[in-house]
Amino acid sequence: MITTDQIQTVRQTRRADPTLSWGLVPTMGALHEGHLSLVRCARAQNDRVAASIFVNPTQFAPTEDLATYPRDLAGDLAKLKAEGVDLVFTPTEAVMYPPGFQTTVTLSQVTKPLEGAARPTHFQGVATVVAKLFNIVQPTRAYFGQKDAQQTVVIRRLIHDLNFNVEMVVCPIVREADGLALSSRNAYLDENQRPAATVLHRALLAAKAAFEAGERDAEQVRRIMRQTIAAEPPARIEYVSAAEAAALVEVQQISGPTLLSMAVFFGKTRLIDNMLIND
Ligand code: AMP
Repeated sequence: MITTDQIQTVRQTRRADPTLSWGLVPTMGALHEGHLSLVRCARAQNDRVAASIFVNPTQFAPTEDLATYPRDLAGDLAKLKAEGVDLVFTPTEAVMYPPGFQTTVTLSQVTKPLEGAARPTHFQGVATVVAKLFNIVQPTRAYFGQKDAQQTVVIRRLIHDLNFNVEMVVCPIVREADGLALSSRNAYLDENQRPAATVLHRALLAAKAAFEAGERDAEQVRRIMRQTIAAEPPARIEYVSAAEAAALVEVQQISGPTLLSMAVFFGKTRLIDNMLIND
């Protein structure tokens, strides 16, 4: 496994045999089974697999957890090696954003609601760093988790709008046995918050059950999710949504692909979860 923080080394490795297909798994490190599920999918579908580990400062707001975001480079590299990854790109901030850097990628619509409303600069940071990673690695396919549902919508749009020659693959959410979606931020939860945090998944299941029983009034579905979450006192809702799955605009009636999603605080820890339903 080649590990490098140099763009030139990535390019040379990628160009060594242009006939080989490459899968890219972009991450911020602190790798868990959710990340590794993307790596396994990439391993199965490509001749070579590249992963990137970069805690991208431009997708964090000044008030967010950039300084305390979990980091474990040695552990991450061991996990990636065990999965048969060929190349790991671990750039520094200076490599990605050298002095004079001033170009950003902005999407005008799908970045506005949901996560974008709560984190107005987040997706500009994501879109810019993903565009850079696509240009550096030039992967055949790129792998993203459904866990970050809006991110998949943003990147699909980015690929289409800027004509990136990359096939996007979205992999299902990996959960703990009790339903909590795996996240690097779960490590922040204390012993009271951790069991309560299963309420995100329980709220999604309650909403899905109502939908399957015939409920099509989206406000009623949102209410079911809000009420389920409100029953767990440590949970503080930031948003609960039932939106059309491509444009991410809130719906009144559920008809067609619909994304149920939420952001919920437990103390300072902000968790997200989602589920796609389809009429
Ligand atoms: P991150 O390191 O948080 O930027 O995540 C890197 C990639 O892993 C993103 O595409 C995430 O959506 C994906 N990911 C994170 N957690 C999970 C999970 N529990 N299940 C599936 N994919 C995940």
